[in-house]
Amino acid sequence: SVECKNICLSYGNNEVLKDINIRIEPGEFFALLGPSGSGKSTLLRLIAGFNQHNAGQLLLDGSDITHTPPHKRNIGMVFQSYALWPHLSVWDNVAFGLVERKLPSTQIKEKTASALELVGLSQFAKRRPNELSGGQQQRVALARTIVIEPQVLLLDEPLSNLDKKLRIQMRRELLSLQRRLGITTIFVTHDQEEAMTTADRMAVLDHGIVQQIGTPTALFDYPVNRFVANFVGTMN
Ligand code: ATP
Ligand code: MG
Repeated sequence: SVECKNICLSYGNNEVLKDINIRIEPGEFFALLGPSGSGKSTLLRLIAGFNQHNAGQLLLDGSDITHTPPHKRNIGMVFQSYALWPHLSVWDNVAFGLVERKLPSTQIKEKTASALELVGLSQFAKRRPNELSGGQQQRVALARTIVIEPQVLLLDEPLSNLDKKLRIQMRRELLSLQRRLGITTIFVTHDQEEAMTTADRMAVLDHGIVQQIGTPTALFDYPVNRFVANFVGTMN
């Protein structure tokens, strides 16, 4: 499980996260929803270890990981601005994390091939990122993160660059991949419909405050306030 207990974070005197309490269960597909600037990326980066909170506790399977550096957390993150290595092939981009971890080359080959297969990009292995569409690049970013078999997967708007049709197809694929791997996933989006149709549970964030946590149905049927009602109720 991933547990945020009374987490607060400020940039200068701008309080960006205010007393966040969220517990995400093993294997859950959890959506973090909220308007631009509400603190979604900040919270995800904090869980990954790239942001430090000022107060509160961050627990991974019950252990406090506040002082564990990012590379020792076994948490994989696909960033909002996914940066692929432009000079490396798709294959090398995906294999990168395994090479860095000094895995034997036979394992690197196996794992890289299977990650590319999972995202349906086996036939693009030799291409460079700039020879791919935006959607294919996002899938490379996903493969690159999945290949290291993280315990927790953090996705910051991983489908934002895709057109509507591809986004719907990709989110189905993402969900089925998540189910197959059983990997605990936190998925950031500002697309209500995306959260409603994919998440086991979701949290709605506004101005760094968790407004409500629950299943999509619960939030839709029983919003605790007008903000949640408007935010969850308006499909766009
Ligand atoms: P979006 O949907 O636009 O990606 P978000 O919910 O991910 O928004 P964050 O990126 O978490 O929002 O930003 C939350 C707030 O923190 C914003 O007001 C932002 O300006 C501020 N902020 C983010 N990063 C920094 C930083 N490194 N230094 C100072 N302020 C920051
Ligand atoms: Mg963001």
